[in-house]
Amino acid sequence: MLEIQRIPLFRDNYAYLLTDPADGTVAVVDPGTEGPVIDVVEAGGGRLDQVLLTHHHADHIGGVAALKERYGARVVGPESDRGRMSGLDQGVSDGDSVAIGTATARVIATPGHTSGHIAYWVPDADAVFCGDTLFSLGCGRVFEGTYEEMWESLMALRALPDATQVYCGHEYTEANGRFALSVDPDNDALKAEIAQDRALRARGDATVPCPLGVEKRTNPFLRADDPHFAAALGLAGKSAAEVFAVLRQRKDTF
Ligand SMILES: [Zn+2]
Repeated sequence: MLEIQRIPLFRDNYAYLLTDPADGTVAVVDPGTEGPVIDVVEAGGGRLDQVLLTHHHADHIGGVAALKERYGARVVGPESDRGRMSGLDQGVSDGDSVAIGTATARVIATPGHTSGHIAYWVPDADAVFCGDTLFSLGCGRVFEGTYEEMWESLMALRALPDATQVYCGHEYTEANGRFALSVDPDNDALKAEIAQDRALRARGDATVPCPLGVEKRTNPFLRADDPHFAAALGLAGKSAAEVFAVLRQRKDTF
């Protein structure tokens, strides 16, 4: 079973260090900068075999060159973004598998935040590394794709088992919770989740990862196809993608 360690970067980014105790393989997901990652790698014995990237944004790839240079790590990322990610050794696409030691990550295409965005699902570890597509109680901004694409991407993640832990790219949960409550004020599961997240933050703890099963009940962006929710938003009869688009646009200016 992979060991997963959260590495805070910048103000609210998370990179993740994955260690396979069976063979010692060490990988990092989305190293936006190298300093804190090097500290954790050195504390663990100074080995870094792989870098896994979800998308091309600088706050997710900024540490790649330095880590590759220092450790000779092999860099895996979206093939379709090869032109805007330097140092990519292995380009991957939807449905591909990536070995992380004795574990296997499956690549899920999640376009929308960026056109080439991918997630890594590791069933053996009940974990999905989803970058800036799905956040706890929220989702990423739609910068490059269409709302329809982003909704389909979120559906691909929602299809994973409830026990899957969502390892997302940012600690945005509190702000997301405020928006979620504004559009879904009667959702008791959401209120309970917000209270729990506030308690975690009050003692300086992270709210990430979070179980996907909780997100399915609380995250408004995963519930755009719920006709009761759409009706409550005044959007009865609209398609799920249309409801999603309205929610995402409201969040952009919230
Ligand atoms: Zn991003």
